[in-house]
Amino acid sequence: MEGLILDGSTPTAAAADARAGATLRLRGLTKQFGDGNVVEALDLDVAAREFVVLVGPSGCGKSTTLRMVAGLEQPTAGDIEVDGIRVNGMGAAERDVAMVFQDYALYPHMTVAQNIGFGLRRRGTGRAETRRAVAEAAQMLELTDLLDRRPGALSGGQRQRVAMGRAIVRRPRLFLFDEPLSNLDARLRVFMRTEVKRLHAMMPTTTLYVTHDQTEAMTMADRVVVMNGGRAEQIGPPMEIYDNPASRFVAGFMGAPE
Ligand code: ADP
Ligand code: MG
Repeated sequence: MEGLILDGSTPTAAAADARAGATLRLRGLTKQFGDGNVVEALDLDVAAREFVVLVGPSGCGKSTTLRMVAGLEQPTAGDIEVDGIRVNGMGAAERDVAMVFQDYALYPHMTVAQNIGFGLRRRGTGRAETRRAVAEAAQMLELTDLLDRRPGALSGGQRQRVAMGRAIVRRPRLFLFDEPLSNLDARLRVFMRTEVKRLHAMMPTTTLYVTHDQTEAMTMADRVVVMNGGRAEQIGPPMEIYDNPASRFVAGFMGAPE
């Protein structure tokens, strides 16, 4: 795989170079459900190509934050900028983002290749171009030998890779992951952390990744956002959070076993 990263002449690297990762800027991002704010005044700047992990206990507002960035939920207040352009009013389809969920649903009657290429075809991409893009995504995810299989004949990890393939085939500039590994068994989860990072190293895509798993956050992130009750308690590189937790909550949550 190193060759793909270092050798700029391979088709995969060349295509990836053509699309730089986006910058993301959140200012005062707030979402109210009922009479409470589930996300409150969130400020965050994500650099191009950065891998930022939102971590915190269940119900702290991680998914709501991601859904607002994706355009699946409108903020009550605050701004979302992608590459300096305010995207608040834009729908999900207009934003150059792709999201991978925990509960990905593959089409059981379609092959792996058809599952990966479906979104492109639906957006009007031609057959030959789709085939080329699917082959490239499959190569990056080491799914090339499985392209003719149906999801029922795949392992959990392979199915999750197909779900990622559906997202990367669009070459988004911003990748959003919502607990993509939560449904996998412990051994596979650890393996897939490395896989997601390997993928990130091959692509220029900026990544915002959500998990409730402290170890996942600490091992994967360039920077971690520790969330509690809709607010960012601390934002910083993993070592800084370990060495200097900003609050009792951060120390307790990040120090707790998985
Ligand atoms: P997390 O992903 O960190 O577990 P969520 O963002 O899913 O948290 O949810 C944050 C809070 O907002 C929770 O209390 C949840 O019940 C509430 N919530 C999420 N979506 C909705 C909704 N559509 N309507 C009302 N409340 C919601
Ligand atoms: Mg969630």
